[in-house]
Amino acid sequence: MTASDADTEGDAVVFDLDPACTVSDVEAGNYYHATVNGVVDYGVFVDLSDSVSGLLHESTYDASYEVGDDLVVELTEIRENGDLSFEPADFDDYETVEVGHDYDITDADDLSGLVGETVHLEGEVVQIKQTGGPTIFHLSDLTGVIPCAAFEEAGVRAYPAVEIDDVIRVTGLVEERDNALQVEVEKLDVLTGEEAEEVETRLSAALEERAEPHDVEPLIEWPALTQMFPDLEEVATQLRRTVLQSRPIRVRHHADGDGMCASIPVQLALERFIEETHQDPEAKRHLFKRLPSKAPFYEMEDVTRDLNFALEDQARHGQKLPLLLMLDNGSTAEDVPAYKNLAHYDIPIIAIDHHHPDPEAVEPFVDAHVNPYLHDEDYRITTGMMCVELARMIWPPITDELRHVPAVAGLCDRSKADAMTDYVELAESEGYEESFLREIGEALDYEAHWLKYDDGRSLINDVLNVGGSDERHRELVEFLADSAESDVEDQLDAAMPHVEHERLESDAHLYRIDVENHAYRFTYPAPGKTTGEIHDRKVQETGEPVITIGYGPDFAVLRSDGVRLDIPEMVTELNEEIVGGGVSGGGHLVVGSIKFVPGMREEVLDALVEKMADAELDEALQSTVVGHEQDD
Ligand code: MN
Repeated sequence: MTASDADTEGDAVVFDLDPACTVSDVEAGNYYHATVNGVVDYGVFVDLSDSVSGLLHESTYDASYEVGDDLVVELTEIRENGDLSFEPADFDDYETVEVGHDYDITDADDLSGLVGETVHLEGEVVQIKQTGGPTIFHLSDLTGVIPCAAFEEAGVRAYPAVEIDDVIRVTGLVEERDNALQVEVEKLDVLTGEEAEEVETRLSAALEERAEPHDVEPLIEWPALTQMFPDLEEVATQLRRTVLQSRPIRVRHHADGDGMCASIPVQLALERFIEETHQDPEAKRHLFKRLPSKAPFYEMEDVTRDLNFALEDQARHGQKLPLLLMLDNGSTAEDVPAYKNLAHYDIPIIAIDHHHPDPEAVEPFVDAHVNPYLHDEDYRITTGMMCVELARMIWPPITDELRHVPAVAGLCDRSKADAMTDYVELAESEGYEESFLREIGEALDYEAHWLKYDDGRSLINDVLNVGGSDERHRELVEFLADSAESDVEDQLDAAMPHVEHERLESDAHLYRIDVENHAYRFTYPAPGKTTGEIHDRKVQETGEPVITIGYGPDFAVLRSDGVRLDIPEMVTELNEEIVGGGVSGGGHLVVGSIKFVPGMREEVLDALVEKMADAELDEALQSTVVGHEQDD
């Protein structure tokens, strides 16, 4: 509290200044605790704090003082030259009130005009990095995050008691280094008690305010999707909050067209928000990472890598553990073992997916779960469509770059939503004709295949034309789409003669292909897509209900049209019925993949076909989505 806030009713008040107090914290007419620091002929000098001192003239007292004596004084005058005059005060009863220095605190986002000046900052420590020179404390006051460099000795940790999440006050010089601002620390204090609480209260109010997502008008009118806006806003808030708290975000997305249409917009929006809120030009790289998942779920291999990286970053760069954002993946029971692994650490998880979810299995482990099936909708609302709106809530100016993306996402996943017409029109108004949107989708799938475990950032931006090069975009897409098409042709030329046909009791056509022996391996298209392409041709050819199974030694990829399959349910049943089959898998209702042990392939496939034969036919031929593929 400051002197002027004190309650002066009742007993007299004597202020006790903190050593950091300056003349700006005192007022003439108030009483202060003082200590004698010098005795001269004409009086004694007293100290009120490290920097506040003045003279008690000998005419104002009879007593004799010695250096070190404590006394109570009245501040009688602050002269124009800054000198202070005191008189001794004599009380029987008084109340002592502590006075902290009333710092003139500067906001972290206000430093650009203050290079070369000394400022005071208050905030939370969000990262502590030891360099070969100084220790860098990243201070967040919710207006921004600023690196504060404290030097003890080259490579030696300064202020070793300071920890992440401590509330600190830094006094230091604003400098510009490599086009970025930093503060050279002169003094760093960890705040405690009331002072810390005050700053924490201020920060948490600011955090909630700044984390608020932007209100956006949906790109198209579509109640099925807009009903999910509250869920998406919740996620937008959580992601913005995560950035403001300088917790890294790691995105794992399905390595296909829709997964990319989902993750690229979110990546761009978050990176721009990071740039706005962090002075450190490296922040973008440290705080955001996107990685594709080849498997249709969060594999142990992936989670182990992610966890290992996170722990290394924590040790090496003094970072917080990340938040995991699962996109176009993450809703199923198959993700749970990986989630359980993360549950041992402070790693929040958010899943946005449109594959048939297992909410009971997943939700104990995730902080947020967004899936159209939870709103009585289905895969037709693709993850790309949801995430374009999410990205706009995080960073609205990105909208201009994204209008064609939901159409690409929908075409990639063959969404049969009525809204697709509107999305395609929206893309057309931006100069993307439908055939070209399809080519973008093909090109994304093609690149996803070859990139394997790499995010291929610039390449994918160019292909999708989001944050990439407009010039290169069209030529690149055409080249990639052509290559993809000719690879598919080669694959099908080899495979089609080996496709086996039978008519099920239900009258549906069943096609089977051994993709292990009758298709090229380790190339594009992989077994999932190869099966899908065969399936599409058979649907075209027959115009009747079709089921296609592409199988390898220990997996089968399933596609169906016009048949009411429930693949997740079939997997559960097969697992129970075929002892020692080791059946697992899932995906969408009518599109998916299963795994089994190689020695039980015949039994599993026979049982699978029986179940498919029992499935009812749809009255109208209903086409489906390219679902999770079993990749090679
Ligand atoms: Mn998808």
